[in-house]
This record gives sequence, structure tokens and C-alpha cells, in this order.
Amino acid sequence: MFCFQCQETAKNTGCTVRGVCGKPEDTANLQDLLIFVLKGIAVYTEKLKELGVSDRSNGLFVASSLFATITNANFDNERFIGLIREALARRSALRERFLAAYKERKGQDFAESLPDAALWHSDDPSEFSEKARAVGILSTANEDVRSLREFVVIGSKGISAYADHAAILGYEQDEIYDFLMEALASTTKDLPVDEMVGLVMKAGDMAVKTMALLDRANTETYGHPEITEVNIGVRGNPGILISGHDLKDMHELLEQTKDSGVDVYTHSEMQPANYYPAFKKYPHFAGNYGGSWWQQNSEFESFNGPILLTTNCLVPLRKENTYLNRLFTTGMVGYPGATQIPDRPAGGAKDFSAVIEMAKSCPPPTEIETGTIVGGFAHNQVTALADKVIEAVKSGAIKRFIVMAGCDGRYPSREYFTKVAQNLPNDTVILTAGCAKYRYIKLALGDIDGIPRVLDAGQCNDSYSLAVIALKLKEAFGLSDINELPLSFDVAWYEQKAVAVLLSLLSFGVKGMRIGPTLPGFLSPSVARVLVDKFDIKLISNAEDDIAAMMAGR
Ligand code: SF4
Ligand code: SF4
Repeated sequence: MFCFQCQETAKNTGCTVRGVCGKPEDTANLQDLLIFVLKGIAVYTEKLKELGVSDRSNGLFVASSLFATITNANFDNERFIGLIREALARRSALRERFLAAYKERKGQDFAESLPDAALWHSDDPSEFSEKARAVGILSTANEDVRSLREFVVIGSKGISAYADHAAILGYEQDEIYDFLMEALASTTKDLPVDEMVGLVMKAGDMAVKTMALLDRANTETYGHPEITEVNIGVRGNPGILISGHDLKDMHELLEQTKDSGVDVYTHSEMQPANYYPAFKKYPHFAGNYGGSWWQQNSEFESFNGPILLTTNCLVPLRKENTYLNRLFTTGMVGYPGATQIPDRPAGGAKDFSAVIEMAKSCPPPTEIETGTIVGGFAHNQVTALADKVIEAVKSGAIKRFIVMAGCDGRYPSREYFTKVAQNLPNDTVILTAGCAKYRYIKLALGDIDGIPRVLDAGQCNDSYSLAVIALKLKEAFGLSDINELPLSFDVAWYEQKAVAVLLSLLSFGVKGMRIGPTLPGFLSPSVARVLVDKFDIKLISNAEDDIAAMMAGR
């Protein structure tokens, strides 16, 4: 195996034996093979497009499949074997469509060569792992070409996850699926470096469009997030803990648990569900339990009741963990031994009755903390406060905004973000989204004239909201460039959604961003240099020096 898609990749180079995330070699290989076959689907989709035929029948399948390969989403080999089989069947049907269209338009049979991704076939899963070993990331020998190809694929995985979330709510956009096909097909060609860099940048534009689509999907369906005080303690009833990013699952679970005597709590990235008007009205929605994804081995244990993982991030269980029988997965998430809740039937809802029945027989959650956290500062809410915020900037009460959005991770080096939050001057405001917030959201950082010093917009995809807020501030202050704002970016990254978010910030024209705890291992030195030269991207150093630099506008 070789995987270098996340921040915790071994030695910041690549996991080669077993993932630091716990992904076993055979799962990693199956994921590589799935992506290989998806590339074949993309090749035929492009070929059909060249003939003037738009075929988007595989767009959502490709997006969902790429989503399944992101870090901490799915550890279930059987699921990947099923996806590879389906991908092969879809590719065969598409090939037939292409060959027929070619003959019809050109009056002769297609006789050009095609990449192996478009041709290899096997019905025998025992042959999958041998093929997978030959088509993985290292099959591209040139380090820079590999880096650029994987940058496009990794960014596309993040875009795909967001596209999948939006599609679940009925929001889809052809342009996004077209890009995914273009991106995957590009990796089967020998393209000039400039063209590959262009595709990386295009991924940023597409990440913006996808997050905007998801923002519309979430807010038009469930209302605009609003300022909310979220309980982080527990009540005395049995509970269900729901994690991940899928708001439709959240809604259906709340509906089905009504009057059942079972409370619903969020974990990690589902916490922002507490900010949505559509969910706040349920009296048995009890608040948030615990912190980031990587704390789930202990927090799922002490929760005592069933846990529902709707998307990444799922952490493999440790030997001492006893909650496997209480672990339910759904959608593109999977874990061997966990119970998978099937997809909803057309026009219907998922059936969470097994989760609810189990909850009724479980003890209530063990209290691990008490108090509240405040959030809900997505773009609509901040716009409503705009006059107050602008006044505070004009009067000098707010000197600077620091965007500290992104992902959390398990390494102690991430204490950097806690230290930055603790030591930033009192006239600064932190804008956040994603699970990176757990490094500081429970600190008592106070407020500035009633504006909390940490404004949490929501999930990682709500980083889009932070960009919208920045653009609105730019407009309000009559500036021509987002970089002229008193705004610094100090972003934590971990997985591929964060890569999509980073690319989207570049697409918004953000310069001088700090990222950490490490630069992505998938960037070759030359590709990293391009980002540094073009966008002045910096690696975080230490809290003291970085705060001084940010306050000086560097
Ligand atoms: S997802 Fe990250 S930790 Fe897991 S195998 Fe890949 S690079 Fe390694
Ligand atoms: S922000 Fe990233 S790391 Fe955190 S839960 Fe979401 S996908 Fe996972």
C-alpha cells in the first residue's frame, strides 16, 4: 500500500504497511483499485463528451465512491469490493454506449488505444489485490507529476464528499460532476505541468461551488444557523449519539425518536446541527457530547448508548473498546462488525428503529463535562450582526480577525492552535468552522462588546460561510482585495475535505495563509514551491512568533 492523503501520513511521506489511521493494507489497495476503475469511467465520459454526448449517469456514483475512500470514512473491504464491481459494470455499459456513438457519428469502429483504467476487467475479487498493487499512487514514477495528479484526486475527494452531502438533500450540479470526470481522466494522460496546475486551481473553484451548493442545500432545507448556546452536559435519559456531517440523517433520527424517552446528542462535526432552527425545536435534542473525532475511543465508550456515524470521521476501535455492538454506520461510512443502516427507499426515510430500540435498554450517558458552548455564526447570522461588527472594527475594539478553521487531529503538535487562541490579544476575534474548533471553543475567551471572541460558523464545509463573511466585510469597508482586510488565516488541516477547503480559499484569492501542523506530504518540494511562490503559503511555526507576525499583518 501507499497512501499519503492525510496530515497524519507516516513520516509525512506515506503510509506503506498500515495506515496511521488504522486503514489496513488490503483496504487501502481496494480503494486504489476503485479509484482506478473510476478513472476508466471518467475516460469514457470524456470520450462521449468529445462526440457531443453528455452522459452524467455516473456523476453521483463517482462522487459517492470517491467519498468512501477519504480518511476515516470506510474500513469495510466487502463494501469496496461491491463498489469496484458496480464501477466495472457501469464502465462496461458506458464503453458500449461510447462505441455505439462513435460508430454512429464516425461511420467506423473505434480503433484508438485507451488507458488500462478503461480496459482492465476482472469478475474475480481474488485478482483485485494483485491489480491494485500495480495501479496505486506509486505507479506514477515522476515525483512532481505524481504530486500534481494526487493533489487533483485528493481535492476531488473533498469536493465529492460535499457533493454527496448536497445530493442527499436533492441538490446537484452538472458542473461538479463534469469536473470530477475531467479531474480523474486527466490523471490517465501525460499533460504539461501548467495544465495540471490549472486543474488544481480549477479544483479550488469547484470546491467553492460545491460548498456554496451544500450551504444552499442545508440552509434552504433546515433554515439558517443562528446563535445558540449548546449544552455539553448530559440528562438522565438514555441517549443516541450521532456523528458525521449528514443533516438529513440528523433530521430523520430526531423525528423517529420523538416521544420515545430517548435523547439525541451530537458528537464532533455533527455539533453544529444544534444551530439549525429545524432541529432546535425538538425537546429531546439534548446537546453535544464530547469533542473531536479522535477522542471517540473514550467518548463512545462512556456514552453508554448507541452511536450513529453518518459520515467520516470514524476511528477504528481499540482492543479494550466494547462499543462495537453499539456502533451503527450509514451512507458511505462502513466498519467491519458495525451495523449498517440501509439507504432510504425512494421518497422514504431511513429506518433507525434498531438504533432507537437499543438505546432504550442502555444506561444514560456518563457525564464527562458540564456547561455550554456558543456558536451558529454562519454568514446569515453574522450579516445580521454586521453593523455591530463593522462598528467594532472602526472603533478599534476589534483589531484583527483570525480564521482558524479546519480539522483537528490527534497529535500533540496541534496544541499550537490552543496556544494561539489563548495568547491572541483580547481585541482579536477567531473565526472558525470544522472540528479544529475543539482545540479552543471550550476556553473562556470572552467577548468584545457582546461579540464572542470565537465565532463558530459550523462544519468544515461552513468555511464557505467564513469566506462569504470576509467578502461582505471587504465590501463594507470598500476594499478591492480580501487581503487588505485585518484578517489572517491560521488553518489546521487533516483530511481531504480540508484540502478542498484550502483550495477554495486560494480560489477566493487568499494570500499568506498559514497551515499546519505540517505541509501536506503529497506535495513534492517543487509543487510546494509553486504554492509558496504564488500564494505565500506558510507552515505554522510557534504560537508566539505566529501571533506577532499575524498582528503585524504578515
Ligand atoms: S488516510 Fe492518512 S493515515 Fe490513513 S493510510 Fe492514508 S495517509 Fe495514512
Ligand atoms: S473537519 Fe475534517 S477531520 Fe474534522 S470531523 Fe470533519 S472531516 Fe473529520
